[in-house]
Amino acid sequence: MTEKIALVGTPCEMLTAAKLQHYTQSPIEYKIGLFCMENFSYSYLSNLMSQYDVDYDDIKKFRIEKGFGFLTLNDDSQIKIPISDLQDVVRKNCNICVDLTSEKADISIGSIGSADGYSTVIIRNEKLDEIIQKAIDDGYFEVKLLSEKQEKILKRLSSNKKKRNLENIEEKESRSKPVLYMRDVEMSHILDENMVSNFVDLKANVIDNASCVHCGGCEYMCPYDLIKIDDTKPFTTKKCPDDCHACFIICPRTYTPDKLKFDNKKAIGEYTSIMSLKSLKDYPTQDGGVITTLLEYLMENEYVDKTVIVDKKEDQPWKPYAKLTDDINDVIAASGTKYSVCPVFKPLKELKEEGK
Ligand SMILES: Cc1cc2nc3c(=O)[nH]c(=O)nc-3n(C[C@H](O)[C@H](O)[C@H](O)COP(=O)(O)OP(=O)(O)OC[C@H]3O[C@@H](n4cnc5c(N)ncnc54)[C@H](O)[C@@H]3O)c2cc1C
Ligand code: SF4
Ligand code: SF4
Ligand code: SF4
Repeated sequence: MTEKIALVGTPCEMLTAAKLQHYTQSPIEYKIGLFCMENFSYSYLSNLMSQYDVDYDDIKKFRIEKGFGFLTLNDDSQIKIPISDLQDVVRKNCNICVDLTSEKADISIGSIGSADGYSTVIIRNEKLDEIIQKAIDDGYFEVKLLSEKQEKILKRLSSNKKKRNLENIEEKESRSKPVLYMRDVEMSHILDENMVSNFVDLKANVIDNASCVHCGGCEYMCPYDLIKIDDTKPFTTKKCPDDCHACFIICPRTYTPDKLKFDNKKAIGEYTSIMSLKSLKDYPTQDGGVITTLLEYLMENEYVDKTVIVDKKEDQPWKPYAKLTDDINDVIAASGTKYSVCPVFKPLKELKEEGK
């Protein structure tokens, strides 16, 4: 692998990326994680918009905070959607997710805890601690301390998500299959299970068990190109060879290796520092613009060659799609949050095929 990649994504996608780094020679140099309370089905969300008489194409910005979804339309008028309506279109797999703050990322970024226009930044990697400090010194970011009260709010919301979804996991396991990624089993058992599992087991335990996060990690891993995933759930059209287990091993909803297990007693996982940052660039971003400016800094200073970002499809409003780029204009164009999923590992497949 010659190219160094920064990958932006949700906490579940960060777990796939961390498993890729753990089990394979991956091109991912930095995992840039978002905070994520929940995510939505694109088709159900589009239907909900039509119930509110909103043309999806007419939405300039979408934010979720303080119990509401706030839509800013192109004419700058605002529409408020109660979170209870949005809850009806949450993806089912999000109800068994214990990670609000991308605990497996190198750096995690979200709005919870910070003032308007700033982002809360949790750094979990010493090298990135240094890079962020340099970027502040170079005039890319303004920094503020997070107050004790702000940090407490973040930790409380994160603990609440863990508590709620651990209860959901217990309930789900009582009526259906075990939720494998949260099973506290010995590493030797995990390795044994990995060696007898293939796509059939992935389908039974994850895809048909409403646990798939639609990250595309399985498609990326398949050495025989058998897995397809676009708007559909991952599927195969041919039988797997006996000696392949790659998709099962890499999926974030199968067994989590010891090194990556969640310690749910720690509200926001392990970290080296936490702060509020605001980009000093004038880009039209979601919150503090930290992600867009950090990606710019990482590429400009050759810490990475390229980045995977999530932009909107041209022919479907707010429909996310992942793209690999080394062009800052693409990164700026992809700023802002799209509240639905797309397979973020898809663009890395090309790189793998080119042997980079
Ligand atoms: C589904 C989802 C749920 C979220 N929930 C919360 C929450 O509950 N609380 C909270 O504080 N923050 C949440 N966030 C994060 C928040 O919306 C902002 O993305 C974050 O604060 C960074 O802001 P920014 O201005 O630095 O980002 P920007 O500079 O605007 O950059 C945003 C980056 O996010 C990437 N991106 C956008 N949509 C997606 C997507 N669907 N999948 C993967 N990457 C994407 C883009 O590639 C872009 O590079 C969520 C984000 C997503 C995608
Ligand atoms: S499973 Fe859902 S809530 Fe959890 S990180 Fe992924 S998208 Fe967000
Ligand atoms: S060939 Fe391997 S990676 Fe591909 S679907 Fe089958 S088990 Fe999964
Ligand atoms: S089945 Fe594939 S797309 Fe779904 S969560 Fe697992 S790796 Fe990701």
